[in-house]
Amino acid sequence: MEPGAIYFDGNSLGRPLRSTLEALTDAIQQQWAQGLIRSWDRWRELPLQVGDQLGQSLLGACRGEVVVADSTSVNLYKLARAATAAQPLRRVVVVEEDNFPSDHYVLQGMAAFSDLEVRTFPVDPDEGWHLQDLDKALDEGVALVCLSHVSYRSGALADMKGITRAVHARGGLVLWDLCHSVGVVPIDLTDAGADLAVGCTYKYLNGGPGAPAFLYVRQELQERLRQPIWGWFGQQDQFEMASTYRPVQGIGAFQAGTPSILGALAVAEGVRVVAEAGMPAVREKSVALTSYAVDLAERWLEPLGFRLASPRDPLRRGSHISLHHPHARHLTGVLIEDGVLADYRAPERIRLGLAPLTTSFCDVHDGLRRLGELASEHLRTSEAAT
Ligand SMILES: *Cc1c(COP(=O)(O)O)cnc(C)c1O
Repeated sequence: MEPGAIYFDGNSLGRPLRSTLEALTDAIQQQWAQGLIRSWDRWRELPLQVGDQLGQSLLGACRGEVVVADSTSVNLYKLARAATAAQPLRRVVVVEEDNFPSDHYVLQGMAAFSDLEVRTFPVDPDEGWHLQDLDKALDEGVALVCLSHVSYRSGALADMKGITRAVHARGGLVLWDLCHSVGVVPIDLTDAGADLAVGCTYKYLNGGPGAPAFLYVRQELQERLRQPIWGWFGQQDQFEMASTYRPVQGIGAFQAGTPSILGALAVAEGVRVVAEAGMPAVREKSVALTSYAVDLAERWLEPLGFRLASPRDPLRRGSHISLHHPHARHLTGVLIEDGVLADYRAPERIRLGLAPLTTSFCDVHDGLRRLGELASEHLRTSEAAT
């Protein structure tokens, strides 16, 4: 990034780590260029090894419950299909109205090719949703509930344990999307009794563009669930080249085709660095960063027509906040031109991702001050024009 620029998009694409450059250079020179095809002996197990490392250090998962593979969208499809196929008498999938678009698309596509029905329930775009609203959408027809742990727009954080328990009480399974929480919010899938989860690694885990996503399947479910993309990386004795599919036991069966090895190595570095910093310290800085941003926004930006579009209580949000402004789209554009990289998110919100490992308090101060200056200028010129 050019000197002086400020990055508020670590929740969209994390910055590269120095150790990743070294790890990938070594992998290309030694494992790829020198080892060539012989390196598959060590690469073959890498997605499971990195999955365990990620699962055990950041997800509260046990060994053999996580694998890195594919994209979040594809993993969501695999797990949602597996979960609904295992419960043939239940034909409804429930999803929060405001969930990430790709999650909706995947479920809609799945319904278009099956007899499943997708049911949504309402969400407050700023505050998230309440258990009562989800509860109203639940009945004995519900096989699966797909939810984001942290909302991609508002940053609202869901109570994973309480919600999982409520869905279990109605006999359904829950699939958690951890894209916006992994690496910034402490997660304990075992303690929460979670069934299934997916998430990406290029946001707060700094795995880089297109780094493989991960999926989690609780141990007891692994035997009951069969995922729909049967590929040779899920096959027993892969290199026997048998023409009939016989999946391996365990989480390995949730793989399909050739994994991205360079991507998985980058994920390993990202996970290692977050784990080394320690989740309690990461969360503490994250809460301090978002709280500082909220304080400054209230002081400097509210008088200019901004409004916080995220939960006010830091314990109810992840590591990004959104600010509503009627001219948010325009202001995000001028902010980016000015070297402060933030995201516009419809409708009318500027989203600021504060990545604890790479965002400083000075970044927050300077970025919000700049936003205030640009918004005042904009106000002055639009008033002069009317
Ligand atoms: C970023 C994100 C995704 C991305 O899915 P990909 O298939 O990896 O592109 C999915 N869900 C949520 C909640 C996200 O924030």
